[in-house]
Amino acid sequence: MSKTKSSESVKVVVRCRPLNRKEESNGPAGGIVQMDLRLGQVILRNPRAPPSEPQKTFTFDAVYDANSKQRDLYDESVRPLIDSVLAGFNGTIFAYGQTGTGKTYTMQGAWLDPEKRGVIPNAFDHIFTHISRSQSDKQYLVRASYLEIYREEVRDLLDPNHANARALELRESPDTGVYVRDLTSCVCKSIKEIEEVMNMGNQARAVGATDMNEHSSRSHALFLITVECSQPGPDGRKHIRVGRLNLVDLAGSERQAKTGVQGERLKEAAKINLSLSALGNVISALADGRSGHVPYRDSKLTRLLQDSLGGNAKTVMVATLGPASQHYDETLTTLRYANRAKNIQNQPRVNEDPKDALLREFQKEIARLRAQLNHRKWRSKQKKEQVDGEGWDDDTAGEEEEEVEKEAEEYVKQEEQRLEMEKEAIRGDRFLLAEEKQRLLGEKERMMGDLRKEQEATEHLTAKYKAMESKLLVGGKNIMDHTNEQQKMLELKRQEIAEQTRKEREMQQQMLVQDEETLELRETFTSLQQEVEAKTKKLKKLYAKLQCIKAEIQDVNDEHVRSRQELEQTQNELTRELKFKYLIIENFIPPEEKNKIMNRLTFDPEEDQWKFQPLVPTESKSSQMKKRPASAVGYKRPISQYARVAIAMGPHSRYRVNCSFPVFLFCLPLFYKDEFHTQHSAMYLWQNTVENMLEDWSNI
Ligand code: ADP
Ligand code: MG
Repeated sequence: MSKTKSSESVKVVVRCRPLNRKEESNGPAGGIVQMDLRLGQVILRNPRAPPSEPQKTFTFDAVYDANSKQRDLYDESVRPLIDSVLAGFNGTIFAYGQTGTGKTYTMQGAWLDPEKRGVIPNAFDHIFTHISRSQSDKQYLVRASYLEIYREEVRDLLDPNHANARALELRESPDTGVYVRDLTSCVCKSIKEIEEVMNMGNQARAVGATDMNEHSSRSHALFLITVECSQPGPDGRKHIRVGRLNLVDLAGSERQAKTGVQGERLKEAAKINLSLSALGNVISALADGRSGHVPYRDSKLTRLLQDSLGGNAKTVMVATLGPASQHYDETLTTLRYANRAKNIQNQPRVNEDPKDALLREFQKEIARLRAQLNHRKWRSKQKKEQVDGEGWDDDTAGEEEEEVEKEAEEYVKQEEQRLEMEKEAIRGDRFLLAEEKQRLLGEKERMMGDLRKEQEATEHLTAKYKAMESKLLVGGKNIMDHTNEQQKMLELKRQEIAEQTRKEREMQQQMLVQDEETLELRETFTSLQQEVEAKTKKLKKLYAKLQCIKAEIQDVNDEHVRSRQELEQTQNELTRELKFKYLIIENFIPPEEKNKIMNRLTFDPEEDQWKFQPLVPTESKSSQMKKRPASAVGYKRPISQYARVAIAMGPHSRYRVNCSFPVFLFCLPLFYKDEFHTQHSAMYLWQNTVENMLEDWSNI
């Protein structure tokens, strides 16, 4: 399955949005984020620190400031990834950052303004333009799915019944990795269709949420595009490559305030950030490289992104920042997070000829329908030739399909006309008896019906075939209206410039590192004084660096203490709740009943849930079912003398069914009504009795 296998790191880019009106009116402080676009550096100023404190500098693959355009980010950082997906790699782009810093703006943007269209609409454009410009021997199948993770539940946003749909399960297969079972997947033939799919999902998201802003800052949205491409290889066989693209808009990364939360609210708060903190842990474990265990299974998000982080995928992370001084802590956390992610190594490879390629299924089905259709048409053609008296010869393989189709249609028309004429002739025949006439007309009518049915079946088959075939996109066909040469050239130029900028930045970054290392080697001193000066300068520089690192260590320690305190607080609250539940169980549930329940419980790691095992294993249910013993006199259950006499006397309706159960069942609550509130024994007696009776009842 793998063709090229190499290791490459996750690309991390940072984007800072402009100050908004509210932040501007807050004071003249300005932003706390500065960017060096040439070097790919972010310089963060701590508004609370004295001016002497050095600023924090982080270096990334690329940085985009408040003036950056959507197109720049796309051409430089996203385009190469989409190209890889089109070549059969898995690709992931995820936006990470505090709420309101531009994650959705970066991923989606303003759809109607071409300048402000985000990564997703630009990717749609890119994919379908690529298909329309590719060679005509390539066949493509594009599918899209849309899901969200809210409160640790995976929900299908394309399910028409989204609001009431149950949460979906995650599964793992050796071919595709982790996937969502029963997730809706829509075949898309054009940009318009895939945009409609996206809109449908966005609407479902908005409908499900009472407060869209609140909802979107707490849920993760994943738009998945699968591009399958079939092309004849050197061996003459068609080979399929499958590229999967995940476009992820994560929930806001800010800490959720948890003060005073209890019960349900506490659980919700714990779940909201579970996926994000699990993502942080996964990134830390991978970036660290030393810890063998990566906790992918801790949350739904990390399981779904398992391949994107440290696996078979190329990944771009866009960390978004706000420039306002009041969000300094969050901004710093985002930068640290992003900085760590740079160290993750992925092993992307081309997915070639996977077993579950849908395109292959489509091709087979199309071939089958085509063969069926051709068979029908040949049959009609043969019949026509027999009717025409031309004599039918076997050597028709060379004939054009169109001709066969035309002849088949002609045959149907001719037959209709012939039958119509024959009917007329029968009606006009004066020598035939009325009965005979009726019979012959009926026969012709039946033949006419058969012919129509045949024709309808062919039409149905043709429609099915055409619908199936239209789902496959063929390269070289103009499905776009703006594929003129000039535009193509312009795009190529833009790509070249983006590539150039990227290379330049990489070189600048390398030079900076080398400069520091070789400074010492190059220096030669003419006097002792000069040497002292130079070394003092260097010492100062190193001292500043040391201070920076010390401050960094202090910051990280503080953060750890803070998160530990939060975790301890959550743990205390959970322990309190656990004690409360224990109290109820210990005092109100009899031990034997508790044991019974405990023995039936098993943990399903796939769904991260405790589950009840069935009381009786399903396959041996019938064999284990107790047989009801017959009563002493041979009836199914003891019955009164009167009833026995009534049965012996004849089929009295009241005693036809040998049953006292329903009456007893309805009476029981009355018998035990009082004890219900006071005595458990009564409850269990009642429960056992009903259980036994239900069992007996089902045996009858
Ligand atoms: P998030 O999804 O991270 O919560 P949004 O994408 O909704 O944040 O952005 C919040 C607001 O900031 C929106 O009104 C958006 O238009 C604006 N915004 C974000 N990034 C930019 C940007 N780079 N340029 C201009 N406006 C932006
Ligand atoms: Mg958002």
